[in-house]
Amino acid sequence: MHDHKECTECMQFLELLSDYHDGELDLALVTKFEVHMIDCERCQAVVKTLRQTIVYYGETRCKAVPQEVHSGIMNAIRACIDTKE
Ligand SMILES: [Zn+2]
Repeated sequence: MHDHKECTECMQFLELLSDYHDGELDLALVTKFEVHMIDCERCQAVVKTLRQTIVYYGETRCKAVPQEVHSGIMNAIRACIDTKE
């Protein structure tokens, strides 16, 4: 189960998410992220959603992660932290 500490870890990873997706993240961090995701359904869902969004926007030849998607991800994680307080 998730506790507050794990949500903080999610925040750290999700702030690196665009670098992760772009393949610009340090390999050690990528490995850490992927290990974290094995036990974290929240991050799995976020990455899955992001990839679907990228595929969709990729078809329109826009590579950047839309700001509204990024904001939505961050809001979801902040909501997680709020419920644990
Ligand atoms: Zn997580």
